[in-house]
Order: sequence, then structure tokens, then C-alpha cells
Amino acid sequence: MDRPRITIFDTTLRDGEQSPGCSMNVQEKVRLAQRLDRLGVDVIEAGFPIASDGDFEAVQRIAATVRRPIIAGLARACKGDVDRAWQALQGAAHPRIHVFLATSDIHLQYKLRITREQCLGQAREAVAHAKSLCADVEFSPEDATRTDVGFLCQVVEAVIAAGATTVNIPDTVGYSMPEEYGQLIRTLREKVTGIEKVTISTHCHNDLGLAVANSLAGVQQGARQVECTINGIGERAGNASLEEIVMAMRVRVDRYPYENGVASEHLFAASQMLAEITRVPVQPNKAITGRNAFAHEAGIHQDGMLKNPLTYEIMTPQSVGVPDSRLVLGKHSGRHALALRCEQLGHQFERRELDEIYRRFVVLADRIKKVQDGHLLELIHDVVEGNASNGSSVSSTGKKFPPATASLPLPRAAAAAANSGDAQVAGSAGQATVKIPFSDHHVEQEDYLWGV
Ligand SMILES: [Zn+2]
Repeated sequence: MDRPRITIFDTTLRDGEQSPGCSMNVQEKVRLAQRLDRLGVDVIEAGFPIASDGDFEAVQRIAATVRRPIIAGLARACKGDVDRAWQALQGAAHPRIHVFLATSDIHLQYKLRITREQCLGQAREAVAHAKSLCADVEFSPEDATRTDVGFLCQVVEAVIAAGATTVNIPDTVGYSMPEEYGQLIRTLREKVTGIEKVTISTHCHNDLGLAVANSLAGVQQGARQVECTINGIGERAGNASLEEIVMAMRVRVDRYPYENGVASEHLFAASQMLAEITRVPVQPNKAITGRNAFAHEAGIHQDGMLKNPLTYEIMTPQSVGVPDSRLVLGKHSGRHALALRCEQLGHQFERRELDEIYRRFVVLADRIKKVQDGHLLELIHDVVEGNASNGSSVSSTGKKFPPATASLPLPRAAAAAANSGDAQVAGSAGQATVKIPFSDHHVEQEDYLWGV
């Protein structure tokens, strides 16, 4: 039996990037977009081209570099914005113009100072213009959940008639409750002429901690696209977290019988890369990607876990790509082990870059004996940034990440290993022995001993 497929629309680079402390330069955005491509998302919203030259350049570069997913550019509902978005998307293999216009009375009166009639006309006109340029057009009635439902239906019907192919229903201020949000999606499906021709999308903010629950409620009522971000970053309390959406649908497939294209074993790497680029650490108890998400400290839990992981584990760390750091990297670790750990932390390197990282790694390992993931991420950051400042491809946004005062996230396993001493290196006369209490590490273990 075929399960309905949910389109995963990632807006880490647009909505996520708008949040305080999460700005990224062009080069960083391209790196993250490549990582999102490997993760398997269907749509990457790469930026808001009219917002700044940096955003424009980022969308343009991502469109040229990342060829599999749809690349979306955001635009307000006016000709200038739509034209600028289209210009940035010129090189895209699969471009999408995403037009938005607020529809709630409070936004119309106080922000836009237009009437409902003017709003309707403007939405219709902007979508028709976008459609004249690009076959794939998404429309978002901003603040949809606080919009009069009758008027919302009118706007949605008008933009579908004007050529929109996806209609996104944002809970812009994170105000909705799950049943309420689901009901809104159901109402649109029941009342709007032509709705069956388009994809309905969710876009939920987390002000009341309900972004994921609301998105899933939307899916249950017929939404087939979910907008979300890595680590749930985004305006204020953030967006629905991509990793939580994906794993909720995977672990509870009995309740949510849907497919999506995300390769969940790349989730942790994507989360780590974002934390490293923005220097905003993942909250330790964050579901799926926090360092404690798979840590079991209470004695009774540890006892149960050792007898059978199913006692307390609803999914394995491996299923989301959390590396098993019981094997700590030290100076006897080989290049292959180092490359593998970099990969697990979200980084792939050319040989030359890896050589440089390896060189610095050996120096560090000589000094501190056990190199934790946090150290490695610092080191990677230095090398990558060093290369960026030597090259000519530095962003024109002027945006830079904050100075390295924030502490980097330490993945849970590294912390656990450091505490428990599960993996130790006893080196003597060029020989290292590794004590590993579990048996599934042969490949890494061999490399650890001999290097390449
Ligand atoms: Zn948003």
C-alpha cells in the first residue's frame, strides 16, 4: 500500500537565518545547503533575495550549486520583490517563487494599512505575475491562523485561480492549538474551490511549544508539505524542528502513515553543522539531536538499557546518525578515523583540507590526549574559516558569526565517554590498545590502531 508522501520544505536558510545570532554568510549558506541536499529535503528556501545583496547572492549561488531539490526564493506580494526573487533563481534546476502577504485584520490595519479588498487584489496580482515567470509558485497568507476564516478561504481560492501550486498556511505567531490548526486545514479542503489541485503546506512557529504538534495535526488533515528548520531555529521561539517531524513520522508510522525523502541517519550531522556555523549550541535536552537525547544516566535506566535497549529507547542513536563516541580520538587515531568522525559531525573534506585538519589534530592530541567532538568542531571551524578568508569567495553580506565565546555543543556520547572512561588509549612503544566494551566497532577500531 502506497503511503502519501510529505514534502519536506527546509527554511533554515531563510526563516531560521532571520533569528538573532543565526545569521550566516554566503559561503556558510552554500555549505549548509549542500548538507541539506544530502539529508534529502525536497525544498530548500535559500533566502529572501530583495532583503539584501547577501541574500540575493546566497540564493543565486545555492541555485547554481545544489541541483536536486527545489530552490525557493521568498518575495513580498509586489512586482519588485517577485522580479528580484526570479532573477536570483535564474540558474536553478528547479526554481520556486514563494510569495507572501499578511491576511489577518490586525496585520492589514496596522502593518500594511490596506483593506481586505486591496489585500485580495494584491495577492492575486503578485501570484499571477510570479506564475508568468515560474511554473512553481507558492503563496503564504501570513498570520493565517488569526485571519477570518471566510476571508482566508477567499484569498486561497483567488491565488489558486491565479496559478499558485502550493498554498502554505502559516501560524506566524505560534498561537494555534493542534486541533484548531488541523481543523483550519480541514476547512480549507472543504470550502475552497480548486484546493485539490494544490499542495497544502504547514508553517508553524513554536511560541507555545506546539510547532511540531501543529504541523503533524495539519498533515493528518491533508497537508502534504511541512515547512521546518534544522534544530527548530527561527523567529522568536523558532519553527517546527525538521528532525522531530521526520522522526515522529518514522517512529510512529502506525499513527502517521506517510513517507518522506529524508535520510534520518544524516540528521545529527546536519544539526551539528548548523550549530558549528552559527555557534548557537543545541539545547542539551533537545529531542533527537541534543547531547542528552540518548543519554541514560539514572541507574534503573542504565540497568534496563544494558539488558535490552528497547526498555527505554524508542529509536536507536544510529537511526539519527549520532556517532558512537565511546571511541575517543587520540594521537594514535588515523586519518580515516578522523575523516569518519568529521563526516559524522557534518563535514566532508578534500584531501588537502583533511591533511591540514589532521596536522592540527595531531598537535592538539599530543597536548590534550583525548580529542572530544567539541574540540574537533573548533578545529574544523578554524580551518574552514581560514580557507574562506584566504579565498575570494567571502560573503558580501557583512554578516559574521559572533566571536567564539559561546561553548560548542558536545554530543552526548562524547560526554558520556569522557565520564565513563569506556574507551581509553594506553599507548607505549608505538603500540596502542583500546578497551571497548561493545563488539560492533571493528572497522573503526582497526583504523584507530593503524591509521592510514
Ligand atoms: Zn516563519
